[in-house]
Amino acid sequence: MSRIKAGFSTSSLPRIGNSQLRANLRSATSSIREKRARVVGEKSDWEELRRKAEKIKDQVLNNLDAYLTELERSVEDVGGKVHWARDSQEANEIILSLIKSHGSKQVIKVKSLTTDEMQLNDFLQANGISAYETDLAELIVQLGNDRPSHILVPAIHKNRSEIRDLFKQTIARGRDISDDPAELAETSRSYLREKFLSTEIAISGVNFAVAETGTVCVVESEGNGRMCLTLPRVLISVMGIEKIVPGLDDLAVFLELLPRSSTGERMNPYTSLWSGVYPGDGPEEFHLVILDNRRSAVLADPIGRQALRCIRCSACLNVCPVYERSGGHAYDSVYPGPIGAVLSPQLFGNESSLSLPWASSLCGACYEVCPVRINIPEVLVHLREKVIVDGHSSLAERSLFAALARALTNTTAFELLEKVMLTVRIPINRMPVGGSLPGYLGKWGVTRDLPEIPKMTFRMWWRHRDG
Ligand code: SF4
Repeated sequence: MSRIKAGFSTSSLPRIGNSQLRANLRSATSSIREKRARVVGEKSDWEELRRKAEKIKDQVLNNLDAYLTELERSVEDVGGKVHWARDSQEANEIILSLIKSHGSKQVIKVKSLTTDEMQLNDFLQANGISAYETDLAELIVQLGNDRPSHILVPAIHKNRSEIRDLFKQTIARGRDISDDPAELAETSRSYLREKFLSTEIAISGVNFAVAETGTVCVVESEGNGRMCLTLPRVLISVMGIEKIVPGLDDLAVFLELLPRSSTGERMNPYTSLWSGVYPGDGPEEFHLVILDNRRSAVLADPIGRQALRCIRCSACLNVCPVYERSGGHAYDSVYPGPIGAVLSPQLFGNESSLSLPWASSLCGACYEVCPVRINIPEVLVHLREKVIVDGHSSLAERSLFAALARALTNTTAFELLEKVMLTVRIPINRMPVGGSLPGYLGKWGVTRDLPEIPKMTFRMWWRHRDG
């Protein structure tokens, strides 16, 4: 029972209670959801594309060692340098030493979940390097010392008057600004333009890396990525080992699926592809940091490994009723929503992640929209089982579920339980609901109502219905 309650971390409870935040989130996710449904509906071969993408990803995951070696060779053939990192610490150290070797004190960044996973910004700051986020939403999160609440739109929980107040206190430099989106965008643009022109090193994530050609691909909507990838002298890109596609034809499949699934657009406004370095065009140095960070352990799990197909489109977040109700932050993880619930426990395996497999209704909406057909409900159930089998549940919880299992698999015991519930129906229905319940039940009930026990059981109703 404690695990079910902990589907949301207790630190998230004030966020769940924030109705403004939930309203911001509801309005943003429902408009993205509608746009997605419209543009997906235009593609008669959508299911075929999904199956193709699933097959490509599985082919890569089944032969990852060969594809990684091929990628390393092709990136180095076109003048890039590949660095291997077993974990976040190693990846952060590699990046720090590259920055130090150029004597730089600041870097600009393109939005990257992988570097968030590595907590790169904090690491750099602790070592005297300032990292400036250049994606508008990431910038808002960074300026507010906040946490991202959505994969694609990290500041989805903020409305424009909150952003205006934040900008007034930070980058507007004393100017009085309105909450007009154009003015807000202009404020951030003039702040960022200075950074683009004065910073020697940029750090990006990677959406896809093509093993055959050493081509790296970043998709984004604002053009900040294009600036970061072309203006600075040194470019450092960071990718998880699973981001590979075999060839450019395979990449084309994902470039069809990703924008429709994420922003509900037919194509991404900015799709940057580059292969190594070219004299006189773009960065003079290109480094590709390839990160494992427990991904190879995830690969060893025949059910859990499908989470590594994820292309971070966020479609599963936008359809998840639990994500919407939680205010976005409740997953306490870099990867929020349904994909976070299956990826974080596998990647981080820490105490707070253990509760995540329960942060779902198992309604299956996430599986239906996932462009790479990750069966999230299947992985969730699998991870729940793993948490219990690995002994991370309390004695009370284990005893309760053992008793329940006995009652549900024995007709006599089940009928007895039904009779008991009908006998205590009236006092239980009169019990206080929600947060006023005692102990754990009280915490669990803060955001939930207990359903009423009905007057008759289903089987009584069925017999009655048959006359
Ligand atoms: S799990 Fe599927 S729907 Fe969710 S972010 Fe990943 S690719 Fe998109």
